[in-house]
Amino acid sequence: MRIEAVDFYYLSMPEVLDIGDGSQDLLLVRLQAGPYVGWGECEASPLVSIASLVCPMSHSACKPVRDSVLGQTLDEIADIDRIGDLVRANSLDLLQAPHTLSGIDIAMWDLLGRRFETPVYQLLGVERAEPRLPYASVLFGDTPAETLAKARSIREKGYVAAKFGWGPYGLGGVAEDAAQVAAAREGLGDDGILLIDAGTVWGHDLAAAAARLPALRASRATWLEEPFVTGALDAYAALAEQSGGVRLAGGEGSHNEDMARHMIDHGGVGFIQIDAGRIGGISPARRVADYAMQRGVAYVNHTFTSHLALSASLQPYAGHPARSICEYPVELKSLAWEMTREHITPDANGLISLPEAPGLGMTPDLEAAKRYLLDVEIAVGGNVLYRTPELVG
Ligand SMILES: [Mg+2]
Repeated sequence: MRIEAVDFYYLSMPEVLDIGDGSQDLLLVRLQAGPYVGWGECEASPLVSIASLVCPMSHSACKPVRDSVLGQTLDEIADIDRIGDLVRANSLDLLQAPHTLSGIDIAMWDLLGRRFETPVYQLLGVERAEPRLPYASVLFGDTPAETLAKARSIREKGYVAAKFGWGPYGLGGVAEDAAQVAAAREGLGDDGILLIDAGTVWGHDLAAAAARLPALRASRATWLEEPFVTGALDAYAALAEQSGGVRLAGGEGSHNEDMARHMIDHGGVGFIQIDAGRIGGISPARRVADYAMQRGVAYVNHTFTSHLALSASLQPYAGHPARSICEYPVELKSLAWEMTREHITPDANGLISLPEAPGLGMTPDLEAAKRYLLDVEIAVGGNVLYRTPELVG
């Protein structure tokens, strides 16, 4: 089979707010080869990814991603790796290319899964997907009182683990942050698993992050996530040396496999968080998951968008030990929830499991998607390079 179509659709909420919520817009990917269709999703700026799909070549290592995908043979798993390598070589200097490839790689896995009537995790060699303990992933409230109320409501809904992040955390003083963390712990209860996400707020500033450790220890936070930007390996390693029982988590900003491996090897993280929609898809995410396992670092998905993206980001570590935690966004905007017909929801034991249906087990709800679909056109010198294709199954 040859890849005959790679179509991108920009979906957005009517209003996109300046908050740390990645579910406000998304880029849906439809791939067609022979009679089969696969679906994927790219994380991060959809319009920039569309541009990198079609932009005219600048030089031999800066070609549009589409040129390495359309017309390629897609019959077996090895073809996915081959096409990924082509994109990485031909779009070497195109920084958005890994995000763009991510949705295509995910769609290729979904397509082969549908073709062979097999869930993606079985194509990856995992017979049975282990259940995961979802942590409710939310933003900090604007005040400790709001955070306390959020944490209580999360616990009432049955989640024993929760992550609070972004919002005001790290923007004010050490005392304000301590009050936020204490409020989260109080609302979650003594036996809850508490995770804190600083959202890279301290950049490279080791002292600022270290000043927050006593409060994190006092509230028995399991991890401090992204105290620094992804590349700040020296700061990560130095903080890890003094963080004690509070482990560091990071890696969602990894745009390729090497960045993730460096976080594991040189950043001292206890948890490596990978978004299949950013790192280049399920293929590199799987290799990072295997490497993390070898190195005794816990692999965790990063997901803040639809359940199509959630399924994709859970596949790479489907075989890792049962009940290990996974990110589970619980404040999704309507777009991200309505976009799929199926959803991955906690069972009576509070655990979630991957669908057993072929591919990713997710069917895009095209009628819902059309309500959020925006027309996009890219023209250069009067030549239309991209126009939103018709959204069909
Ligand atoms: Mg995060």
